[in-house]
Amino acid sequence: MNPCNMNQLGVTRETSWAVGHFNIHNQEFIKAVVRAAEQERSPAILAVGMLSVKYMGLAPLISSCQIISKQTDVPIAIHLDHARELEIVRQALELGINSVMFDGSALKYEENVEKTTFVVNMAHDYGATAEGEIGIVPHGSASVSESDMTDPAKAIEFAEQTGVDFLAVSLGSVHGMKQAGASLNQELLQKLHQQIKVPLVLHGASGVVDEHIQAAVANGIRKINVNTGLKVVLKDFLSARFSNNPDTDLLDDFNQGIDAITASVARRMRLFGSSNKA
Ligand SMILES: [Zn+2]
Repeated sequence: MNPCNMNQLGVTRETSWAVGHFNIHNQEFIKAVVRAAEQERSPAILAVGMLSVKYMGLAPLISSCQIISKQTDVPIAIHLDHARELEIVRQALELGINSVMFDGSALKYEENVEKTTFVVNMAHDYGATAEGEIGIVPHGSASVSESDMTDPAKAIEFAEQTGVDFLAVSLGSVHGMKQAGASLNQELLQKLHQQIKVPLVLHGASGVVDEHIQAAVANGIRKINVNTGLKVVLKDFLSARFSNNPDTDLLDDFNQGIDAITASVARRMRLFGSSNKA
């Protein structure tokens, strides 16, 4: 199947489930996510982040995603994650990516509106979807302050002014957490979901406990971003494997590493309610 944009995955503001966005860094991660999608009969998003672009290159990553997505019969979207420069968005769209996120959350409100609107229009010209962010989801170990969380009035205005297809909001999660310990402001989420006309996105989900993920889906989150959690799974698997079986073939190690990521992605698809929605 050809990869599709985020509006073609079957998830909408009104569905009672969320689609998983899984950051990929090489072909092993891409295969793992697509295998999980096949096993679970779930749509999925293959996300290309800026560190992975630096590691592997934009064109090699996008074309690997395209080739592997075409070999499967479940809907897959390829998405650019946390772009902060307009030029990389343009390059990704030119390479045929289906969806882009412009992260202007650290900019002044007016500049975030202006650049996000530009990205939305450019994405739509290519038949792609666009995600924006309002409020700040911090990186690293910093916790989320009240002032970082999304202000409902600003978010409504932002969604209407920019025309984003999906909107990332800040509810208490933090990027890069290696263990799940964070909870979310569910009351704020309910308010945002009631008042905002587009599907809402949760970033930093690796650090959020399962109960809060499930409640977030019930309260209106429709796209859930997972990055760090999958890196941790592979690293833990390979370090145990290398110390217990030093003589195995490396390709066999990688294959089993792919299986370990697949199992973790499949578990999350069930948690998000996206299984059997393809
Ligand atoms: Zn993020």
